Amino acid sequence: MPLSLAELLSPALLNRLFARIDARADELVDFARELVRVPTINPPGDAYTECAELIGKRLRPRGFIVEYKRGLGTQGDSDRYPRTNVIARADGQGPGRCVHFNGHIDVVAPGHGWTVDPFAGVVKDGKLYGRGACDLKGGLAAAIIATEAILDERVPFRGAIEISGTADEETGGFGGVAFLARQGFLAKPRVDHVIIPEPLQFDRVCLGHRGVWWAEVEMRGRIGHGSMPFLGLSAIRGMGDFLGLVERELYPKLDQRQTRMPVEPPGARHSTLNWNSIHGGLDEGYDGVPSPLVADSCRLVLDRRFLIEEDLDQVKAEVVELLERVKKERAGIGYTIKDIVVFHPTMAAPDAPVVRALDESIAQVLGRPATHIASPGTYDQKHVARLGHLEDCVAYGPGRLELAHQPDEYVDIGEMIASAKVMAAAALRLLAA
Ligand SMILES: [Zn+2]
Repeated sequence: MPLSLAELLSPALLNRLFARIDARADELVDFARELVRVPTINPPGDAYTECAELIGKRLRPRGFIVEYKRGLGTQGDSDRYPRTNVIARADGQGPGRCVHFNGHIDVVAPGHGWTVDPFAGVVKDGKLYGRGACDLKGGLAAAIIATEAILDERVPFRGAIEISGTADEETGGFGGVAFLARQGFLAKPRVDHVIIPEPLQFDRVCLGHRGVWWAEVEMRGRIGHGSMPFLGLSAIRGMGDFLGLVERELYPKLDQRQTRMPVEPPGARHSTLNWNSIHGGLDEGYDGVPSPLVADSCRLVLDRRFLIEEDLDQVKAEVVELLERVKKERAGIGYTIKDIVVFHPTMAAPDAPVVRALDESIAQVLGRPATHIASPGTYDQKHVARLGHLEDCVAYGPGRLELAHQPDEYVDIGEMIASAKVMAAAALRLLAA
């Protein structure tokens, strides 16, 4: 017989679960180390299959049905670099809600400046070091231990618990969560609640993230001799006009716009715009004496982060309006603008079921209230919401965002254990609802 809500959430049962997780602290660290040791660097998307199988082989004998889904034909997918995803599911007794934990298995390149081997899984002073330790293999390992504790305790729940390890989050998630959401895996009606253990701190619930618009702007002029620039048309001067207009007219407006999303750090509660790169004239790779040319092309990549209160068409229109002014005021100059990537902002309601379940579990495990935040950047929640039509999704996990993608990235082991307890308690709350 499945247990009632009161029985599922009885202090005695939760305490037994927490004791199980404490007893597995070493196992949790060992499994996180094993994950860190698989160098799933993206790009290019190395060793996904090895990492996905490490998760699948652990979960299958523990009562999960395991499936592998390759993001066939998605960006970067090839036989050399298959976008391998793993989905594991444990069904309870009879129909009910499905709680899904999703963690990306890819990591960014280690870069320079490490004092430990980034792929050795070094443990020191209560911390696990390594590329991906906090973003987010430590969180994924914590979610796995949390769900295993529920199964080992033989808690008679209704519904299902799922875990997925997915590809490509660092490069947009197209071969990972986006692919699975389109296929109906990370989507309604199969799944009801999603927790993504991104490293946003074990006492905070991340409701969502701002939107992203990346675009490339190219100014076009006319080539000419550098000694007689008046016979050409400099695309660089056109771009200079555009940059000046944005500086004087757009930046002040963006600084004024404030979101109701609780973005951390607070500086990112405004609309922001970054010039990602700019280049005009001769190729940058050439280090000889340049030829005297008027640049007929100047290209720029912009990174505009927009708020849930902003409309994307409007966001684009205010940039295009300034480009049009340049075109009008500097005769002969033309421009093109094209999207590189668009991700819409997304945010779960502060009283959504998954948020409430995490809030209550954080208060119970840590003895203090949870904080709600939103992320300045983006992560896979957008795909769950837009492609999976699943709004009840947040990020919650151990680790600090400031350490992600840095040298000597680490996750605190105590925080991993505490967050595993929070995730186990939150899963029971959601299954009991
Ligand atoms: Zn991440």
